[in-house]
Amino acid sequence: MDSLLPSGADVHTYELSASNVADVAQADIIFLNGLDLEEQVGEIARTNANGPVIELTEGLPVIDGNPHLWLDAKLAVGYVERIRDELTNIDPDGRTVYEANATEYLEELATLDLEMELAILTIPAEDRRLVTFHDAYVYLAERYGLEVVAVVAPSPGQEPSARDISDLSDAIEGVPAVFKEPQFNADVLELVAEEQGVPVFDLLSDAYVDGVGTYIQLMRFNMNQLVEGLGGD
Ligand SMILES: [Zn+2]
Repeated sequence: MDSLLPSGADVHTYELSASNVADVAQADIIFLNGLDLEEQVGEIARTNANGPVIELTEGLPVIDGNPHLWLDAKLAVGYVERIRDELTNIDPDGRTVYEANATEYLEELATLDLEMELAILTIPAEDRRLVTFHDAYVYLAERYGLEVVAVVAPSPGQEPSARDISDLSDAIEGVPAVFKEPQFNADVLELVAEEQGVPVFDLLSDAYVDGVGTYIQLMRFNMNQLVEGLGGD
């Protein structure tokens, strides 16, 4: 299995290289998140693929067209089941292996989901408020009882306006922490947070960083940052 994007790339705006396009044409199957998360990548995949192109969010409950469903570990279950079923479709001989691997991973997801839920419950209810860089956390917030109060960038690849910055400054007054994301320039958020005396933590969404190279590590990283930033224990 190969990933089309390099680690740390912004999936919303990433453009595929010529060698990526060759990989697309040779792949037996391509999995996309869908909902236009990978705008340019998705289009190239659909045009050049020889095998099936599967959108993993298809059939899952979508909020306002937002593509970041995997940040709710319960919704990630839907991705895993779909991957298992689609791999079995193109390679029926592998069924036993796909089923065993999926079952094992689904158990890990159930543990992760419970761990996230319990960890976030340790944050005082009035502090379960999220200010993040881009609008990636609606599903996480919905599942684990947080409220998204503001995002810095209205849409990925777009710089915040003076008006956005002033709204942001109002929104972060009194929140325990704000969260930047490593794949985006955080200058604006850091500046506004400093003015308000609010500490800045990291959250991961669409990209891995050094030391965090799997989905489960990404979710645990977020859990720890949320608990630390918002005053849980
Ligand atoms: Zn995103």
